[in-house]
Amino acid sequence: MNKIIIAIDGHSSCGKSTMAKDLAKKIGYRYIDTGAMYRAITLYCIQNGLFSGEELNVEELKKAISTIKIDFKFNPETGKSDTYLNGMNVEKDIRTMEVANKVSIVSAIGFVRHAMVVQQQEMGKEKGIVMDGRDIGTVVFPNAELKIFVTARPEVRAQRRLDELISKGENANFEEVLENVQKRDLIDSTRAESPLKQAEDAFVLDNSDITIEQQNEWLLENYQLRIKNKKISIN
Ligand code: C5P
Repeated sequence: MNKIIIAIDGHSSCGKSTMAKDLAKKIGYRYIDTGAMYRAITLYCIQNGLFSGEELNVEELKKAISTIKIDFKFNPETGKSDTYLNGMNVEKDIRTMEVANKVSIVSAIGFVRHAMVVQQQEMGKEKGIVMDGRDIGTVVFPNAELKIFVTARPEVRAQRRLDELISKGENANFEEVLENVQKRDLIDSTRAESPLKQAEDAFVLDNSDITIEQQNEWLLENYQLRIKNKKISIN
């Protein structure tokens, strides 16, 4: 049974995880949300007083990084995988605006990225994985058999993110979310360490004006074409 690696990168809040999860479920692959890993480290920094405003105590984080353990466990109640930080379920806590506002500071640090990339490469050793993030097709799995780069207009992404936050009972407004989305895009794509950029061999999808069903179909078609071209058996 030959399985492949599917790398999905793109801008913040453009529905990467929705399409990645859907595809993984349909084809029986494991799904890994690498943004959740950077969010979990950010939550660790907040909980342990490593932030003073937007200033991060990088030296303290460096000392602690090898003790920070991030896992994913399937939650039978939601049918989805939850993120665990040092044994605690933090799935809800990592999705707040507070974490969103600080995560790009943490994810720009070289030793943090290095630690995460090592874990991500380990998770993909057996292939059969759909991984989403910012540097999956460029740094984590530069030889991934299928690479997708997703984007959408910032206003569309901010509205989707706002709807999601409100549905989870979070307090947020459109301007604040739009500012966060644009700020994260800027930091993520201009940082020195593994900046967000489109891999040359990635298929690009702008999903501003299409439905979730259409985007999922597009991805499934691309997967099937890739499998055909590569003559990889899917059973
Ligand atoms: O995907 P999500 O929006 O949850 O990611 C949160 C943040 O984590 C991003 O804004 C980015 O700073 C960082 N990230 C990253 N590399 C990845 C995944 C996420 O730098 N592979």
